[in-house]
Amino acid sequence: MAFNLWHNALELLNNVAKKVNLDQVAHKRLSKCVRELTVSIPVKLDNGSFDVFTGYRVQHNTHRGPTKGGIRFHQDVTLDEVKALAMLMTWKCAVVGIPYGGAKGGVICDPSKMSIGEIERLARRYTSEIITMIGPERDIPAPDMNTNAQVMAWIMDTYSMDKGYVVPGVVTGKPVSIGGSQGREEATGRGVTYTALNTLKHFNMDIEDTSVVIQGYGNVGRATAELLYKEGCKIVGVGDVYGSIYNPHGLDIAKLGKHLTKTGTVAKYSDADSIENKDLLELKCDVLIPAALEGQIREDNAEAIKSKVIIEAANGPVTPGADNILRQKNICIVPDILANAGGVTVSYFEWVQGLQSYFWSKREVNLKLRDIMTKAFYDVLAISEKENVDMRMAAYMLAVGRVAEAIKIRGLYP
Ligand code: GLU
Repeated sequence: MAFNLWHNALELLNNVAKKVNLDQVAHKRLSKCVRELTVSIPVKLDNGSFDVFTGYRVQHNTHRGPTKGGIRFHQDVTLDEVKALAMLMTWKCAVVGIPYGGAKGGVICDPSKMSIGEIERLARRYTSEIITMIGPERDIPAPDMNTNAQVMAWIMDTYSMDKGYVVPGVVTGKPVSIGGSQGREEATGRGVTYTALNTLKHFNMDIEDTSVVIQGYGNVGRATAELLYKEGCKIVGVGDVYGSIYNPHGLDIAKLGKHLTKTGTVAKYSDADSIENKDLLELKCDVLIPAALEGQIREDNAEAIKSKVIIEAANGPVTPGADNILRQKNICIVPDILANAGGVTVSYFEWVQGLQSYFWSKREVNLKLRDIMTKAFYDVLAISEKENVDMRMAAYMLAVGRVAEAIKIRGLYP
């Protein structure tokens, strides 16, 4: 069957529902997204013609608070993908205990083939099309794949122009100059790093002896590589869409950064062997960190994975079928809804700082992030040990339990 992230997300929900004997009402409600909006987005192109793009904004659940989640610009975006990612955001916010439900947005487009001006016009018109759905008390977008602080600034500006006054709290991941938080840009990678360090500690693995492979070298993959390198890990392999590289002695991540700035890719870096992208995931290493798209580790390549641990920096990188194979191989997977929750956690800090107009230092942000990520890690680990389940099931038991509790307490309207 073709890969479908929404079907995978439902399968995970059904598995945990069975395990915890989830209340039927909660199960039924959580199997659907509360709001799904499809919009068409006309954009004038630089050559004078115009195109109509398709975009989505989906809110999965609102029981624990307003909804929260990124917006991605990618040629393969589908409504099912956005629904699944919205559901994952619900669980992610619940695992780390921040007061949001999950949402996600996406626009079908290939930003690598668009000019800055075209991307700005697309972002602004998309914002205008979903404007009834978003707002600081309602639904708060943030960056995701191929969107960044600049795109958030355009969304914030468009929303503010519509309201007639400035509303910084409508998005997070904004530039610091207009109310963004210190540390937000690298927050997902930093959270992945704290999770990786907690995992190594749990398995009594020595940081200096740990070899790491990272798939994806965008915002998340790159920050993770740089931070783990600083901690002393050996980053032996990395890759992006243009190609992958391998050096068993460890890559010089600072030097690789210069190559990346110059060429726009990690591929063809001189102090490493070039390898096929599909071989990157199968390298021998201690920690494998998929930090790219979903569905990268599937039934057809899971058997070949040789790492001891997988830390899911991407959303949904391992399919449920692959999960079973990896479990039999005794590979510990630290799931996305725990491992990559650092981004939304600092988004929460940004939202709180914005509401109070009182801003924190980077040190304060990073310390609070570490506290939240570490508490969530040990909360999940405790359930995993007590219930004798893997880390994914444990994280789902924690998250779904918290959301189900909110559904029960709030009751049904009318
Ligand atoms: N897009 C990020 C994620 O998937 C961050 C979402 C947010 O900060 O709201 O977790």
